[in-house]
Amino acid sequence: MEELFSVHYAEVGLKGKNRVFFEKRLVDNIKLTLRGTGYAEVERLHDRILVHLGQNADITEVKRRLRQVMGIAHFELSSRTERDITAIKEVALRHIQDVSYESLKVETRRTDKTFPLTSPQVSAEVGGYLVTKTGTRADMHNPDLVCWVKITHNAAYISTEKIPGVGGLPVGVSGKVLVMLSGGIDSPVAAWQMIKRGAKAVFVHFYSYPYTDKASLEKVIELAQILAVPNYRSTVYLVPFAELQQIIVAATPSPFRVLLYRRMMTRIAQRVATMENAEALVTGESLGQVASQTLTNLRSIEAIADIPILRPLIGEDKAEIIEKAQRIGTFDVSTRPHQDCCSLFVPKHPATRASVTDLADAESGLDVDTLVEEALNNLEKRVVG
Ligand code: ATP
Ligand code: MG
Repeated sequence: MEELFSVHYAEVGLKGKNRVFFEKRLVDNIKLTLRGTGYAEVERLHDRILVHLGQNADITEVKRRLRQVMGIAHFELSSRTERDITAIKEVALRHIQDVSYESLKVETRRTDKTFPLTSPQVSAEVGGYLVTKTGTRADMHNPDLVCWVKITHNAAYISTEKIPGVGGLPVGVSGKVLVMLSGGIDSPVAAWQMIKRGAKAVFVHFYSYPYTDKASLEKVIELAQILAVPNYRSTVYLVPFAELQQIIVAATPSPFRVLLYRRMMTRIAQRVATMENAEALVTGESLGQVASQTLTNLRSIEAIADIPILRPLIGEDKAEIIEKAQRIGTFDVSTRPHQDCCSLFVPKHPATRASVTDLADAESGLDVDTLVEEALNNLEKRVVG
C-alpha cells in the first residue's frame, strides 16, 4: 500500500492542444509549493496528477499547501493498492481508521472494465467488510462517510474526503502582468485575482519618502511576500515619487493632482512593464469608489497608456473586496496604518470629471519624458519569496 494525493484540475483539462503545457506547468508549480515537505515525487497521468508521499512526507503540511496552488480544482488523499478485492478491503479499512463517522457508504468506479467484479459488486463486498469490522451501519442515502474505490488498469485507489482547491489556472500559463501595488486593501486582491487566472505578477510601488515613512515601504514588501505564496518568487520595483509629486504640486491645478500622479505612475509603470516583458498593467481600481475612479477619470488616466490596464475589481463592492482580502490573508497587513503617496497634498475637492484634454493641458508645462527617465534612474529592485 502507498499513500498519495490525487490532484484534479478543472479548466486545465479543457485546453485541447495546450493541455500538456498546462499540466506540466501545474506539476512544476506543485513541486515548488511542496519544497521541504518531504514528498517523494510528483507524477503526471493523463487525467490527473499524483503526489507520491513516500515515508517522510508531512501529510498535513502537503495538504495545507496544495490548497494554495492555483489551477487545482480538488484533491484527495488516496491509498493505492493492487487490483485485488482482499487487498482493497484491507486497505479501505486502514484508510478510514482515523476518521469518525456513524454511517458509511462505498462508491466504486472502474476505468478498467476487465476487473472481474462490477462496480456494485465491489461496493457491496467492501461495504459489507467495513460494516462488519467497524460495527457501524451502512447508509445508502445520507451517509456520514463515503469511501471511494477507483479501479484503473494497474491499481486500485481508496479515498474519502474530497478537498477543494482554489481553482483558476496554473501560474505562468497566462503570461506576465505588472501590478501597481499600493499598501491598501484593493491592489493586493486585484493581484491575487490575476495570479489565480494564471498570470505571473511582477509588482511596482511608488513611495514618497521622506513625506511617507519607511514603514509604509516595508508593508508593501510584506504584501508582496504574502502574494509570493501563490505567485512564487516575485520581483518588486520601488520607485521614489516624492520629487515628481512636488513638481506636479508646484506646476498644476490642485483638483487634478491625484489624476496627474496616476498618469505619471502609469507612464513609469509602462516602462517597467517593457523591461519585464509584462503585457498589461493591473490596478485595484473599482468603479466610483473614490473621485479618481469615475469612468471619466479612469478614461483620462488610461489615455496615456499604450498597453492594457486591467482592473479585476472594477465591478466589486468594497465589502466584497474586504472579504476576499481576509480570505487571501492580506487584510490585516493592508489595514495597518500607513501613508500612501497618493493621499499627499490632496485637495478637498478633487475633480470627478477631468477630461483627457483637461489633463493634457494641466501637464503641458511639465517635461514628462525627462521626469519619467529620472524616476527610472532611481528604480530599486527587490526579490521576495
Ligand atoms: P488600494 O486599496 O489598492 O490602495 P485605493 O482604493 O486606495 O486602492 P487609490 O489610492 O485611488 O485607491 O489607488 C487606485 C489604484 O492605483 C490602486 O489600487 C493601485 O493599483 C494604484 N496605486 C495607488 N497608489 C499606488 C502606489 N503608491 N504605488 C503603486 N500603485 C498605486
Ligand atoms: Mg490606496
